[in-house]
Amino acid sequence: RHRLLAWCRPGFEAECAQELSALDSGFGGGGYARAKPGEGFVEFVALDAEAAGRIAAAVGREPLIFARQLMHGIGRIEALPREDRLSVLLPLIAEDPRRWAEAWVESADSDAGRELSALCRGLNGALLGGLKRLGRIDRTSHDRLHVALLSPTQALVCATDMRTAAPWPGGIPRLRFPRGAPSRSTLKLEEAFLVLLDAREREDWLQPGMRGVDLGAAPGGWTWQLVRRSIRVSAIDNGPMNAALMESGLVEHLREDGFRYQPPKPVDWLVCDMVEQPRRVAARMAEWLRQGWCRQAVFNLKLPMKKRYAEVQLCLGLLHEQVDAPLDVRARQLYHDREEITVFARRA
Ligand code: SAM
Repeated sequence: RHRLLAWCRPGFEAECAQELSALDSGFGGGGYARAKPGEGFVEFVALDAEAAGRIAAAVGREPLIFARQLMHGIGRIEALPREDRLSVLLPLIAEDPRRWAEAWVESADSDAGRELSALCRGLNGALLGGLKRLGRIDRTSHDRLHVALLSPTQALVCATDMRTAAPWPGGIPRLRFPRGAPSRSTLKLEEAFLVLLDAREREDWLQPGMRGVDLGAAPGGWTWQLVRRSIRVSAIDNGPMNAALMESGLVEHLREDGFRYQPPKPVDWLVCDMVEQPRRVAARMAEWLRQGWCRQAVFNLKLPMKKRYAEVQLCLGLLHEQVDAPLDVRARQLYHDREEITVFARRA
């Protein structure tokens, strides 16, 4: 009851662990993270159940950057019998008095995790059947049960609050590449809108007739996402833009330097996917927000360096400092982000 489990991008376990430790330290500390590079998850052992609850609640209010999902541990099983895993799982789950709206059996987004996915699917069906027989499924509940298979014989049984947790298994929204989009990167901005904004915000803040600027736009995957929502875009890039996208008539292509370009009048959206030093990007985004050149921004911070967690902290600190007004900042390493994170920022 004092364990937490986070799914993360394989290779970013250390960053995820640092975030959990920092949160824990803020509450007085006492816990420690267990993470192995490449596993795609981090286990955090808190001092006690209260400490774990505080961390989970804080993440519910403000999600971690490097975790796709944070789950609260109920029990750990070290030796699942291969012939009948349910015989050990069900009694352990039944000790918890809750009734579950959903039950997911998941594995990590790693090579080892993917090898377990067929097993997860089979076990998930059997688990749901077992829970129904026990009268433990209740669609009106807010609680979701997670069985995280860490190996063929090890599982961490966890829970999340569906009102704040990610609504996708593994914390991964499966997006289909949209027909006609100019580049794979288009999925990054689509995911950013889906993950960083709620349904109401998407409706209110992404309206037809709005205006946007895309810095480092070519060939136009991000611009395409805005155009799809009937938003007019000034696309700033020396490189060529996708011809079909230009035919929409909603895009103005300017071959200018994205770090110097200023809009003639304020726009609703600034989006930026320039491959540049993250602090340089953060400083430029801060300038746009400080000047009021845009209402809100979505941008990527590329993280090719060693000290990625420290760099992110520095960039977000710099953003707050240089805008010097209350800011709503939401940062996440999205599924479609590789060595980078995506940030949404808006003056509060
Ligand atoms: N978001 C785009 C998409 O979805 O198709 C992909 C952008 S690509 C990763 C980065 C782009 O930034 C390149 O096309 C590059 O030319 C542009 N770029 C880099 N530095 C720039 C600068 N200083 N000014 C304008 N564009 C820049």
